[in-house]
Amino acid sequence: REHAEISLKDIDQIAKSSFPLCMGHLFEKLQEDHHLKHGGRMQLGLFLKGVGLKLDDALAFWRAEFSRKVGAERFEKEYAYSIRHNYGKEGKRTDYTPYSCQKIISSTPGVGDHHGCPYRHFSEENLRAALTRMRVGNRALEDVIDKVRNRHYQLACTLTFEAVHGSSCDAGVNHPNQYYNDSQRILES
Ligand code: SF4
Repeated sequence: REHAEISLKDIDQIAKSSFPLCMGHLFEKLQEDHHLKHGGRMQLGLFLKGVGLKLDDALAFWRAEFSRKVGAERFEKEYAYSIRHNYGKEGKRTDYTPYSCQKIISSTPGVGDHHGCPYRHFSEENLRAALTRMRVGNRALEDVIDKVRNRHYQLACTLTFEAVHGSSCDAGVNHPNQYYNDSQRILES
């Protein structure tokens, strides 16, 4: 499947406008902590690859954050390999694909992990706060919470998409990169 490339300088802006909550949350935590544990690096890293971030930009992106925490040398030694690996440049040279919602929803984040699906893995209080920051209005927010209580996490995400974009998402959300692509399509039209 063809997708546009994105450049590093656009990433903050597209994160705000078009990332689903699972990725927006990882992105924020990375900027806050200058670090993400393995599960988060995989979930966000493969998503960004799917969005069109090229390997060199991906390395620069992760290096900029991680080197503030662990130093540039440790970044190269311990982390750069796995980023190249995700792009199929190391090891078995498999080209890894971004995770689907199903895979993310069924993951089991532990203490200190920020990956997973917020609709599934956040407390209701934290989810409400996150949705409010995304400017989801009161009525839509209650509808989202209602879906979550019924364990319809992807429907909750779809309602969030619709509230944020003021536009329907007929296919429903089944992949974070689909959320991103649909968002970009709406914002560009
Ligand atoms: Fe991410 Fe999918 Fe959960 Fe939405 S439903 S937050 S895209 S994992």
